[in-house]
Amino acid sequence: MINYDLMKQELNNMGVELDGYGLDRFDAYAERLVRWNNHVNLTAITEPDDIAIKHFVDCLSIMKYVKFNKGDKVVDVGTGAGFPGLPLLIANPDIDVNFVDSVGKKLGFIKDVMRNNGLVANVTHKRAEDMGKDGNYRESYDYAVSRAVAPLNILCEYCLPLVKVGGYFIAMKGAAAEQELADAANAIHTLGGALEKIDSFKLSTGDNRAIIIIKKISQTPTKYPRKSKKIDSRPL
Ligand code: SAM
Repeated sequence: MINYDLMKQELNNMGVELDGYGLDRFDAYAERLVRWNNHVNLTAITEPDDIAIKHFVDCLSIMKYVKFNKGDKVVDVGTGAGFPGLPLLIANPDIDVNFVDSVGKKLGFIKDVMRNNGLVANVTHKRAEDMGKDGNYRESYDYAVSRAVAPLNILCEYCLPLVKVGGYFIAMKGAAAEQELADAANAIHTLGGALEKIDSFKLSTGDNRAIIIIKKISQTPTKYPRKSKKIDSRPL
């Protein structure tokens, strides 16, 4: 289903290498994504080349900025059909990913893809802000990653409490990233973060993308994250 030459060329341009199983795993992932999408609403992107670029290559673009190490703990907040965490796990099978979503059916899809590809990771059916209050998860991750879940000021309150001091929150954003970042200045500071980097680029399809990297420089005050309704109605 996936055009291996296209994927190889795109990954080469980004300096990302896959092991021998990588492309086959992406192919199996794409095939299951399209199949599951017939009964669970997972994605509007279903053409093979679009899946390759707008999902897989897009998610792997994080690897231009981050070199993951064996055992790094990564939480993917609002993962949906596994984006960006599952492409990152396929490219780095020795990282320790927790796929988080408030909708259980989507996590069933991720488990199916992992089972089929011999991948191992945790899957958590919870709201991220509830995990941020729970000592089993709070300030325990080297990286929080998230794509297409909420505006950055709200997303910071979901993600930054989960990141340990010295770790990073990586938000995948689109053309409005600079404005979202300006609107999130107070949230980032209040929750113990500091902007490390923002970078904008275009996918080969012409779509605008941006990566925002926020370093956790101090502990998140215990009153955060607040209750879901408060986060949404009164964003920091
Ligand atoms: N990240 C995926 C992607 O890029 O394709 C999915 C994006 S989808 C638009 C947003 C996902 O975030 C949904 O699956 C939704 O259930 C989940 N979500 C939204 N708010 C959440 C929260 N507070 N905690 C956990 N999951 C959340």
